[in-house]
Amino acid sequence: MAVFKTAAFDLSATPPAEVSVQRPRAVPETARPRPRRPLGWPLAVPSEILPGMNALLISCSDGRIVGRLDALLAEMGHADANRLLVPGGPLPFTRPGSERRVALSYVREIVDVHDVRRIVLVAHQECTGYARALGGLGFDQRELLERDLRKVKTLLETEFSGVDVRCFVIPWHEDGEGAAYGPATPVE
Ligand SMILES: [Zn+2]
Repeated sequence: MAVFKTAAFDLSATPPAEVSVQRPRAVPETARPRPRRPLGWPLAVPSEILPGMNALLISCSDGRIVGRLDALLAEMGHADANRLLVPGGPLPFTRPGSERRVALSYVREIVDVHDVRRIVLVAHQECTGYARALGGLGFDQRELLERDLRKVKTLLETEFSGVDVRCFVIPWHEDGEGAAYGPATPVE
């Protein structure tokens, strides 16, 4: 009876010499071209196709304000806006060094890929992110938030030309009935 062997199953077969794997040479991060324009479905969607996606919400990750954020975006016609939710909302953009750089890199990623034309920047009162970073919040927290919003608006409009930034504060109301977040109010 004939015995058939194949090289793949014949353990005694001599392995072929000169087997080498060519690895692609690593390209230094700085030498890689940055994608400036949309990359292709589903990573990028031209703003003409899905107009709602050319907006970006930057706000706090606090779950208590989700309803107010949704209402604001719906009212502005940006219900499908991209969202960057981080503790403090605008706060990391006011911080020095790497914290601001990382925050800006996230925005750049979203702005580039989704062709963002509008950023909705929202701070909220009684923000634990702010309280923790500043060691507490005083009675002037509204002024503090508004000042930071204006500062970050200028920063973002400088970094991302052609992007329009709108600022809002979500107020905290307390009365005899209880306490709750009210609708977002614009900050000029
Ligand atoms: Zn917060």
